[in-house]
Amino acid sequence: MRKSKFVKLKLREAGFISRALLSTRHPVLAHLIPMRRCNLACGYCNEYDHTSSPVPLDVMKRRIDKLGALGTSIVTIAGGEPMMHPQLDDIIHQIRLRGMIAGLISNGYYFTPERIKRLNKAGLEYLQISIDNVEPDEVSRKSLRVLDKKLRYLSEYADFHVNINSVIGGGIKNPEDALSVARRAVELKFSTTVGVIHDGDGTLKPLSPKEKDIFQQVKKMGNKDHARLNWFQDSIAEGKPYNWRCRAGARYLYICEDGLVHWCSQQKGYPGIPLQDYSMTDFDREYKTEKWCAPTCTLQCVHQVGILDNWRDPQQVPGLTKPESSLKDTIHEVLSAD
Ligand code: SF4
Ligand code: SF4
Repeated sequence: MRKSKFVKLKLREAGFISRALLSTRHPVLAHLIPMRRCNLACGYCNEYDHTSSPVPLDVMKRRIDKLGALGTSIVTIAGGEPMMHPQLDDIIHQIRLRGMIAGLISNGYYFTPERIKRLNKAGLEYLQISIDNVEPDEVSRKSLRVLDKKLRYLSEYADFHVNINSVIGGGIKNPEDALSVARRAVELKFSTTVGVIHDGDGTLKPLSPKEKDIFQQVKKMGNKDHARLNWFQDSIAEGKPYNWRCRAGARYLYICEDGLVHWCSQQKGYPGIPLQDYSMTDFDREYKTEKWCAPTCTLQCVHQVGILDNWRDPQQVPGLTKPESSLKDTIHEVLSAD
């Protein structure tokens, strides 16, 4: 990424953070799904299919316009594999036209020099690729050996920020692979983060002692800003619940391919309201709603958004979510699972 563009992006980010601290009444980050389809089938993933069609461009543009009207700061395109959408560049361009930061989460398989140059032109600002292991296996083919050539292309041609996320947990066989992935990311001058993979309902199984040790080593090599924001991960890695306020449905929105707003990828169905009908009444209700799944949640981006408001506006348990009396039982079930 060119230095001048990087500085501009950091200034815009600083502006969005100040705005988020001054006012609680707009979404900070939205994840938007343009297609559920994926070319891979990772063993721990519950967010893909192999058959669905791309959401038409005019529908995607209307959703982006609505996010702009709600005052959203950052829109990240996720999937499935969003690079399979034939009009991804137009979707990114529309996000930029509405003055929002444009991000993308991808498995990395479709990056060629030509494709990267088109993403530059569309105005992409952030890319995140998660790499799960060094050699492909039955759990994941998001592997350093397969993707290294794509990373070199990105290093040479991308005029957007690239973050490589390595992972621990979730059935990944060799935790030390996370160290190899992080080292390669640093070599290529990308930022790097480490995530703990969630299980089927977005919550966590405690890490083994070896996984915990590698997790700490990889964290030290990573992006210091992210490490500062992700202190929740230390509790989670120890298998301890973390006390925070999840603002999903308000400061963070997850918009599925059907255009419905959900808390997040792991809690679909709540509130399940079409984005086009989403109002500040819905926003306010979800902002104040305590999420039963928060203490063991591993979703980094939602935690980071939560930091902006963690110090204010306590939440309540509504009828919609799990009753408060079952919260302890839920945490116990998750932490004592194999
Ligand atoms: S690449 Fe991503 S969306 Fe596709 S199966 Fe793997 S984790 Fe799921
Ligand atoms: S705490 Fe929030 S982000 Fe995490 S699983 Fe629950 S609703 Fe989703």
